Parts: sequence; structure tokens; C-alpha cells
Amino acid sequence: MSEEASKRAQEEADTPDLECQSDDSSDEGDASGDTEMDFLRSLFSRTLGLSPGEKVLDELTLDGVARYILSGKCKNIICMVGAGISTSAGIPDFRSPGTGLYANLQKYNLPYPEAIFQIDYFKKHPEPFFALARELYPGQFKPTVCHYFMRMLKDKGLLTRCYSQNIDTLERVAGLEGEDLIEAHGTFHTSHCVSFLCRKEYSMDWMQTKIFSEDIPKCDSCGSLVKPDIVFFGENLPARFFTSMKMDFPRCDLLIIMGTSLQVQPFASLVSRVSNSCPRLLINMEKTGQSEFGMGLFSFGGGMDFDSDKAYRDVAHLSTCDDGCMALAELLGWKVNTEIVQKPHRAQTVTVRQTNSKHSCRNMVLCMGQQTVLIKNSL
Ligand SMILES: [Zn+2]
Repeated sequence: MSEEASKRAQEEADTPDLECQSDDSSDEGDASGDTEMDFLRSLFSRTLGLSPGEKVLDELTLDGVARYILSGKCKNIICMVGAGISTSAGIPDFRSPGTGLYANLQKYNLPYPEAIFQIDYFKKHPEPFFALARELYPGQFKPTVCHYFMRMLKDKGLLTRCYSQNIDTLERVAGLEGEDLIEAHGTFHTSHCVSFLCRKEYSMDWMQTKIFSEDIPKCDSCGSLVKPDIVFFGENLPARFFTSMKMDFPRCDLLIIMGTSLQVQPFASLVSRVSNSCPRLLINMEKTGQSEFGMGLFSFGGGMDFDSDKAYRDVAHLSTCDDGCMALAELLGWKVNTEIVQKPHRAQTVTVRQTNSKHSCRNMVLCMGQQTVLIKNSL
């Protein structure tokens, strides 16, 4: 094994999986090297107040952030996003019981709801997961203003990367490409055979056909199950998450955090990986990620500080992600193309099963990859 490959294997082996997500606090297992030392150095100096970061924003408001972006000094923007950016697309928070989705799964007698995302359970009983996948299959929903705002950042050459916790692929539908994206919890975009010896890759189209024909997807080569590449409990995060994180965050000029409660590690700890001068803008319905002395995920330092008298770089804009992005775009003098948001991308006839999910919009827009069709009053 080459040095590079063995390092990667070690990194993956050390990666905390989602099962132990809540108690891990800071690190992902790179025991070697400068990154770790840099991180500790900046953490200690910040905690001890030795070298407070430079104050970059003239005001801790959305206006201050907009002026900074327009100043030309802000060239590398990272977005960190969670489920909150997709709720206005009508995607239910399917992990919480009581949304109605789990009710459809009662016939499968799940021992507990989370079992549906547990890799060991899936290997024995794949049916409930694929039934849920039919309900929630990407392509039945449409990107939001927030997704298109990130696309604008990309088009203007300002987006270093979008780190997403979502598996709905709406970032891709809005026009972000593989390079622009870290899908931290995986994606439906590709699938793989679950056999470690085989790992044959399958396309989204292949998986879609299987899912909607109610076949349990099996590998053509070896007959094992094929699973969309979303990260189940008990599985590692994609290796790219860790390699990109080390490259991207030290050179970040502005971190925009949207629609996430910053509760799931190691994703949440990313906010502490930017330099201590890097401004951080939170667009969310409530404040989150703050340091709480002696407890909480950020008790070691590096959490957000919006309100204390030491606050110098964190801005909380409390609103929906769409409203926040629209307000920021206005301050920047950017015209969000609401035409794109409201109009289907390219009409094409597709066959889609009706879903039972609760849906707030009258005109349901169905996107299949890049193709979209508008179905009036479908729900
Ligand atoms: Zn196989």
C-alpha cells in the first residue's frame, strides 16, 4: 500500500462514525502533522486571549457582511448547510417521528425508527429503507432561493465549497457540481454494492428504476445488496470530507452557516476550523453553535459568539434561509433570478409515484436530475 493510501486508510479507520456523533468533540484522527498543531495553537491563543483575531467586519450585521463581500477582500466563501435549507422545498424532517412518514413503515415492524438508517439492520432487512426512499426520492423536490444563492456565489467565483449535511441532492439540481460540494452525509447521486470485495458503482438512474419498480436493488456482479451512497449510522463519513476540510478551512475568508443546528459531529466542529479572523455568518431560525462554558459541544472553545462584549466576528441573522439569502443578495445588489426558482428548469415527461408526504406548495415541481416538470395542484 502506498504511503498516501495507507494514510487515507488510517484516517478512515479513525473517523468517528455517526453512532458516536454526540460525544466526540474536536478531532477526526489526523494524529500527525502541522494541521493539528496549528489547530491547537490557534485554540489556545484564542482561549487565553493571547491573540484575538483581527476585526474584519465594520459591523456585526448582514450589512457589515455585505460590505465585506463587496470590498473585494473576501474571495473564498465556504457554506455549511443543513436540513433547514430544504424545508421550504417541502422536504419533511423525516428523521423525527410524527411526520407521518414513519407511519407508512409500520407494516415493517421496525424495532425503533432509527433502525431504518442502521447499516447492520439494512443488510438484514433492506425493505423499509427502500420503501422510505420511494417516498423521499430526490427529484420530487425543487431547490430553494438559498440553493440558488449558493449557485450565484459559485458563478461569481466566490464559492470555495459547500459542505452539506443533506442527502436530497438539491445543491446539484441548483447547479453546484461535484467539485463544489462535500456531501458530508452522502448522496443519492451514486450507489454501491455493499460487498467490500465488489463495491461496484451504480448510477442514480439505475437506482431510481429499481426503487420505483419496488425491486430490492441487487448487484449484477455478485448479487449483494446495492445501497445509495448516503451515510448510515455505523458508517464512516466520506474520506473527501476530511481531506477537503484540511485544505479549505484555513484559507476561508467568510463562513456562511445556514439551516443547521450544529448538533451533529464532526460536522459541527468545522466552524472552529477557520482562522480566528474569519467572519462567520449564521442564517437560521435561532442562534446556535455558541460556546457554553463547561458543557456542550463547543465548551473547548471555538464556538460562536454573537452577543458577548468580546464578540468581533460572528453575525446571527435570524430568519428562514431563503429570506436571509434574499436579504443578503439585495444588499449585495445581486439579482436572485426568481424566474429560475419559480419556473421549471426544462419540461420533460417523467413518471413519478405520488407521495404521501405532507407538502405545503400547491404546484409541485418534480425534478429528475436536471430535468423538471411542473405538475399543477398535484397535492
Ligand atoms: Zn457486487
